[in-house]
Amino acid sequence: MSRNDSSDFRTREAIRVHGDDCVGLRIGIRAVDIVVREFGILEDTKGLKVRLGTKQCLGDAFKALLHLDDNQIEYAERDDIIRATNGTSKIELHLTRSKLKETNDVLKASEAELFPVIKKSSN
Ligand SMILES: [Zn+2]
Repeated sequence: MSRNDSSDFRTREAIRVHGDDCVGLRIGIRAVDIVVREFGILEDTKGLKVRLGTKQCLGDAFKALLHLDDNQIEYAERDDIIRATNGTSKIELHLTRSKLKETNDVLKASEAELFPVIKKSSN
């Protein structure tokens, strides 16, 4: 069973917060995984800020899984880029341009397919 299967606890929690399951939410969950990995986030997410040039659905994945409040998430003009910073580093995730129609398409996609550009830099 893949870790983003809907039976997965985190996925269920994200769906609960979002009120629905959708492609955007599933992409958001994958983005959260990358941000957590790249920043080495364990518990404390207070210093984290996320700027989303995406559908708002993705923001609910960040809220649900990293317990971010509204001050930590900014919804920007749509450019299909997720920008996150923890104060010392920045990461940019560029969303794929291919159309994902179903949540299953997100599950099947590799990280490189979903986010063709992942840029990390220091502030
Ligand atoms: Zn949605």
